[in-house]
Amino acid sequence: MILLDGKKLRNLMADSLKSAVAEYLQENTAPQPKLAIVQVGDLPVSKAYINQKKLFAERIGAKVLHKIHPDKVSETELIEEIKKLNKNKSVHGIIVQLPIPDELDKQKIIDTIDPIKDVDGLTATNIKRLWTNDERTVLPATALGVISLLQHYDIEIEGKKAVVVGRSTLVGKPIALALLRENATVTICHRLTKNLEEETRRADILVAAAGSEHLITKDHVKAGQVIIDVGINFTKEEHMVGDVDFEAVKDIVAAISPVPGGVGPMTVSSLFHNLVEAWKTQN
Ligand code: NAD
Repeated sequence: MILLDGKKLRNLMADSLKSAVAEYLQENTAPQPKLAIVQVGDLPVSKAYINQKKLFAERIGAKVLHKIHPDKVSETELIEEIKKLNKNKSVHGIIVQLPIPDELDKQKIIDTIDPIKDVDGLTATNIKRLWTNDERTVLPATALGVISLLQHYDIEIEGKKAVVVGRSTLVGKPIALALLRENATVTICHRLTKNLEEETRRADILVAAAGSEHLITKDHVKAGQVIIDVGINFTKEEHMVGDVDFEAVKDIVAAISPVPGGVGPMTVSSLFHNLVEAWKTQN
C-alpha cells in the first residue's frame, strides 16, 4: 500500500512557493503577497486552521491580514469590510473563514469578493468558470489539494472511475468537478444514496468527503483502489480521524491518504498556490 503523504508534498510545495515568491520579488518591484482572512466569531477549529495558514504564509514569505468580527456582526458590515479589502492594493487574496453563523447569507458575502482576489474559488464567478471549463478557474483549495496529491504520486485520473462521497459546495462538488476536468468518470454519492457500498466498490479512485467518522469500512473498498480521505472528524477523546477506517482498509487498497497528514496539509499549501498566482496577476 502506498501512503499518500500530504505533509511531505505540502513541504515540497512550501519550498517551491518560497522560491517562486523570492525570485519574483527579485525581478519585480512588488509588495509581498498578502492574504486577508475574514473571521466571524471565535470557533476553536477556525482559530486552529487560521494559525496553520499564518505559519504557512510565514514559511513562503507571504503576509496575512487577519480581520476578526464578533458573532453578531451584520451582513452589511462584513460586505463593507470585503469591499474595502477589494480596493486595498496591498491585499491579493481574500477568504472568509468558514463556517460563519447561519443567520448570515454566506454566498452573498463571498460573492462580494473581487473574483481576482477569490483565492478560495468560491465566488459565483469562479464556480461558473469551473463549470464551464474556463482557463481562469481558481480551483478551491481542497479540490486542488486532492488533484495535486494524485498527480504527485503519478496516479492516473483520465478514464478512471472516481466516486466522491459528499456533495457540499465547499468540498464534494468542487472535488467531483476537478476530477471530471481531469477526465475521470465521476459519480457523486450523498446521504440519500442507496447501497453506498456498491457505489464505492466500483471506484478506481474513491474520495470520502462526508464528515462522518469511519463511514468507509472494509466493506466499501476493494483491492487496487486509491482512497483519498478528506474527512476531518474528532473522536470523543479529541483525536482527529477521517471518514475512512484506515486500519480496516489499509491492507486491501493500493494507496490511501491518512488523516491527519493527507489532504489537510495539501489544502493549506493549495490555498497559497492560489494566492501566489493571484498576486502575480495583480502586479
Ligand atoms: P457537509 O456537512 O457540508 O457535507 C457533507 C456531505 O456528505 C453532504 O453532501 C452529505 O450528503 C454527505 N454525507 C454525510 N453523511 C453521509 C453518509 N452517511 N453517507 C453518504 N453521504 C453522506 O461537510 P463539508 O463541508 O463538505 O465537509 C466534509 C468533510 O470534509 C468534513 O469532515 C470536513 O471537516 C472535511 N474538510 C476537510 C478539509 C481538508 O482540508 N481536509 C477541508 C474542508 C472540509
